[in-house]
Amino acid sequence: MPRLTFWGAAGQVTGSMHLIEAAGARILLDGGLFQGHRAETHELNARLAFDARRVDAVILSHAHIDHAGRLPLLVAQGFHGPIYATPATRDLSAVMLADAAFIQEKDHEFLVRRGKAGPESEPLYTVADAAATQELMLGVPYRRLFHVRKHLTLEFVDAGHILGSASIDLRLTEGSNHRLVFSGDIGRAGLPIVRDPEPPAGPIDTLIVESTYANRDHGSVAGAEERLGEAIRRTAARGGKVLIPAFALGRAQELVYALHQLHRAGKIPEIPIYIDSPLAVDVTTVFRLHPEVFDNREQLIANGVKLFDFPLVRYISTVDDSKALNTRHGPAVIIAASGMVESGRILHHLANGIEDPRNLVLFVGFQAEHTLGRRIQEGREIIRIFGHDYHPRAEIETIDGYSAHADRHELRAWVRGLGGPIRRAFVVHGEPPALDAMATILKEEGVREVVIPKHGESFDL
Ligand SMILES: [Zn+2]
Repeated sequence: MPRLTFWGAAGQVTGSMHLIEAAGARILLDGGLFQGHRAETHELNARLAFDARRVDAVILSHAHIDHAGRLPLLVAQGFHGPIYATPATRDLSAVMLADAAFIQEKDHEFLVRRGKAGPESEPLYTVADAAATQELMLGVPYRRLFHVRKHLTLEFVDAGHILGSASIDLRLTEGSNHRLVFSGDIGRAGLPIVRDPEPPAGPIDTLIVESTYANRDHGSVAGAEERLGEAIRRTAARGGKVLIPAFALGRAQELVYALHQLHRAGKIPEIPIYIDSPLAVDVTTVFRLHPEVFDNREQLIANGVKLFDFPLVRYISTVDDSKALNTRHGPAVIIAASGMVESGRILHHLANGIEDPRNLVLFVGFQAEHTLGRRIQEGREIIRIFGHDYHPRAEIETIDGYSAHADRHELRAWVRGLGGPIRRAFVVHGEPPALDAMATILKEEGVREVVIPKHGESFDL
């Protein structure tokens, strides 16, 4: 009998990893990193609950670190099977995992120099492990029935969340037939660049479904673009800079796309737009390599005008070029990581510009509690960057509507889109109130049995 065990994103959002034992094999869905304070997550990440050498294959839903960020650790611990992913996810993983390894190595070196290194700051894996992981990746396009092994076929369908993101449709044919669907992270209709989510239709025996925003409503994507244009016009008119913290994968490309649209429509002035993040530059290169998965509308534009290149936009890779932005006067837009202002080049730009009332700090993503982004967003009178106090005088604004996750209405629409009866659903990838809200949605939509699994819990299918 097939068996399913939850080794991540169970009762929480990060660390996505689910083990299936079926068709004589042990297969992992995702190998994600637990994110948060290192002291709390290091042990959880470092110690796998099973022998990595005995895992036969991994099927990866998308390249976000909370879904892919433990794959190099699996490889470092002896996993050597294939990792199946869509071609875009495979290529995005190459830059994301190398970056994750590099940051861990650099952070550890930094703490060693300061005499503050400890077991919790040890890198989980190296850049070499990330490269070895890439060697195991096999691209399987959307909507291609793929035989993983005897009695087990795989099909990826578009999850509409980020470039290459997939829901995973598995068919087990050993003994009786069993269909298992893993949602991955579900996106939203109308998001720029990526296609709309495609729920894999038909009767489902086992559904594993995310619930990140099952208890929330988002603003509309179109409304977000209007507000972005307005914010840039207002700031440029007073001679200020717009500073936007953004994640390198997904949000940065969406913003460039939105700014391109606004520029073509004559809705933003002719001011320079800097994408100041080496990772965002690399990720954007991967986007350029995969127009095959763009939304039709975008594909048309890609054929005529380049999606991520227009006269105002400049990509900044080197540290010197990044520092040079600080001495530049006049209006500009600067997009830099990290998205929650915990690290990365955005810190330098804020240190340089947050006390100037002409400037605007624009948040376009969720700011978690205890992050610097959250403190700035809340309007604290004093904030600390690199050990110095700053008094924010810049304007602070938040635009929601750029979320890449379905909200509660969109999650319900996705479940309805599955159509067929669902025998049992497992709700994962959410904080407790969101997990409960998703369980309610599933019951209201007629799912016979709904389970919110705990970390390490196993089920016979
Ligand atoms: Zn994701």
